[in-house]
Amino acid sequence: MALHDGRRLLALIPHPDDEAYSMAGLLAQAASDGAAVFVISATSGEAGYDHTTPDARPSDIASTRELELTQSCRILGLPPPRFMGWPDGGVADLPLAQAVADLAHVVELVQPHVVVSLGADGAYGHADHIALWRFIWALLSNRAAGQDPVRWLSAAFPAALFDAQRRRMAQGRDARQLVPPTGAPAVSTEIEVRLGSLRNRKLDAIAAHRSQLPDQDPRSLFPLGTVDALLDVERFHLEAGPPLPPGASDPFGGLTAPA
Ligand SMILES: [Zn+2]
Repeated sequence: MALHDGRRLLALIPHPDDEAYSMAGLLAQAASDGAAVFVISATSGEAGYDHTTPDARPSDIASTRELELTQSCRILGLPPPRFMGWPDGGVADLPLAQAVADLAHVVELVQPHVVVSLGADGAYGHADHIALWRFIWALLSNRAAGQDPVRWLSAAFPAALFDAQRRRMAQGRDARQLVPPTGAPAVSTEIEVRLGSLRNRKLDAIAAHRSQLPDQDPRSLFPLGTVDALLDVERFHLEAGPPLPPGASDPFGGLTAPA
C-alpha cells in the first residue's frame, strides 16, 4: 500500500523469541504493507537454556539465539535484527540514564513512526521484560515539544493466559527473574491484528527459536494451550503518542504520510 511507503516501525524486544509469540503477525503485516521494520533485541538471550545443546556455554547460546532471531525475522519478511548487548537477566540492574541513552540512540538511528514492545506486565512477568518497558517509558512517555511524536504500542494478552507459564518459570532456573503480578487492571487495547493466513508464519517464527523449545515443537515454547491462544489475533495497547482511529488494525493508522 502506497500509504505505508517510508513508514518505519521499530520493534524493541528483551530477548530473541519475544517477537515471535507477541507481535509476529503485526510485524509481518507491516512489512508486507511496505513499512521498513527494524527488530532490535536488548539482549542476546545468553542466560537462557539451550534445549538442543544442554551443556552449551553462554557465548554459544548467544550466537545460537542471535541466529534463531535472524531466521525468525527472515520468516516474517524482515531484515536481520540488531542486538544491543545488554546483559540477559541483568536488564533491571542497568542504570536508568545509561539504558535510556542507549534506547535514545537506537530511536535516533531508526527514527520510527511506531515503536512496538511488550507491555508493563512483561507478558509473563520476566524482570528483563518489565525493565525494558520501564526504560522505553522513560524515553517515550514525555517526548519533548519539538521532537517528532512516536506512537508506542505494547502487546496485550488475554487475562491469565500466562498463569501456567508463570508457574513453570517459578519452578525452573529462571525463578529469580519472575516478578509477582501487581494486580493492575488489564490495559485497554486500541489495535487488533487478525492473523488469518499469517497464522502459520507466526508458528514458523516461533519454531525458529529451536533452542527454546523443550519438545522441538513451537507449541512447547509455553505450557500447553498458550501458543494456540496467540495464533489468531494480536492486540496492542497504545502507551504513548498519536491516537489510533477506532477499530484500527494498522499500526500506522491515522498517521499523516511522511513528506
Ligand atoms: Zn524474553
